[in-house]
Amino acid sequence: MEQVSTTERPKKQEYRANSADAKHGSVVMYLDMNSYFASCEQQLNPELRNKPVGVITYDSPNACIIAPSMEAKKYGVKTGMRLGEGRQLCPHIIPVTTNPYQYRRIHVKIMEILHNYCDDVIARSIDEAVMNMSSYKLVYKDMQEVGRKIKADISREYDWLKCSIGIAPNSFLAKLATEIQKPDGLVEITPENIDEKLSKLQLQDLPGIASRNERRLQLCGITSPLQMRHTSEALLRKAFGGVVGNFWYRRLNFGEIDLYAHENRNMSAMRTVSREQRENKATLEAMLVALCTKLEQRMVKQDIFCRDASFFIRYRDSTGWDTKVRFQQPVQDGLELRRYLVQQIEMFERSRNTTMFNKNTQSLGVAIGSFMSGGNLQYSLFDNRMKQDVVRKAMYNIKDKYGRNIVRKGVEMLDPYVMKDAIGFGSVKDMGNGIDGEIVNKYMLEEDF
Ligand SMILES: [Mg+2]
Repeated sequence: MEQVSTTERPKKQEYRANSADAKHGSVVMYLDMNSYFASCEQQLNPELRNKPVGVITYDSPNACIIAPSMEAKKYGVKTGMRLGEGRQLCPHIIPVTTNPYQYRRIHVKIMEILHNYCDDVIARSIDEAVMNMSSYKLVYKDMQEVGRKIKADISREYDWLKCSIGIAPNSFLAKLATEIQKPDGLVEITPENIDEKLSKLQLQDLPGIASRNERRLQLCGITSPLQMRHTSEALLRKAFGGVVGNFWYRRLNFGEIDLYAHENRNMSAMRTVSREQRENKATLEAMLVALCTKLEQRMVKQDIFCRDASFFIRYRDSTGWDTKVRFQQPVQDGLELRRYLVQQIEMFERSRNTTMFNKNTQSLGVAIGSFMSGGNLQYSLFDNRMKQDVVRKAMYNIKDKYGRNIVRKGVEMLDPYVMKDAIGFGSVKDMGNGIDGEIVNKYMLEEDF
């Protein structure tokens, strides 16, 4: 903790807007490494090049292929298949066990290359990054030329790695542009060509639109991305049932919704306390644990970490307390979050000689903010934490697969194979393993405030 404050009954919390309007003439460049894990393996071991490779989590026919190489994809091998299934499609597929450390190391190098061209680089995941080039328009006359130079720089460093680069007035369309040409793509979407580009796409080609959202749109008579772009904001609101519809309208009309979404957004969890609950201090303390765990779940889902947190409590006489903590290192773990808050609470209680959790408690809540994406964390600096982060991810993956209650916080019991599994799933965006098979880009449709 480097900065703390405790204040008495502040004004109602103001929520910052979940969007930064694209200024006229914004330019965003998006980079997506092609078949990243498998290509890294081929980079590191040239004998694997031009061969169908399946990166797996552990050596067994039941292992999941978390990343097929481009050659394996040609046989129909897909991310998430079992190795046995992959072998049926491609009998000579070469299984390779995952090497997360190497993928992170190469990721850091690629980020360095991007930083040579632009100060405003945000890693979206281990193999994706977005660059806000808006303030470089006078520096670089030709953004496509910059894209080609970046590709050349990556090739010089790692001759086997390929990427798709998208350029557009906002980050959503720039990401979409990377999907249009793979591998080794370079596509620019402009106000002049957007309709032509969209006319070749299906709804599910849009990152963030999977079957559930496609159905919602179809129910409103919207059957293609082109139609979606030319529909009214009101109809999109109706289709998505609220503000998410406005976001989609703006994405397809050059507004910026996603670029700094992490940084701007706050998340909070709150509980109102019943009469019986406020009688028992232990219950209130358990509630704090539950709130922190809830926020942890949401952070793991979105692969983000917070750098500040606040705790608030309200009493029946409408007085209350707010306390805010800023962390030196980003936090995702719910119990760590709780520990920092409890330190604050205890400090406060000592200084005032009072008890914060008392019989007048009406509600309590925790809010977190200043997020950064998991891809931005430099794990080499604190390897110990990496293990914890990986275990946490593993636990949630198991919960998603087999149900909420199958594992609890006794996480040290998980075996290392399961942990390896988790690294892949946490990082591979096109798994479609979100809620209801939805969500390609986990950040785009979340509506936490
Ligand atoms: Mg990729």
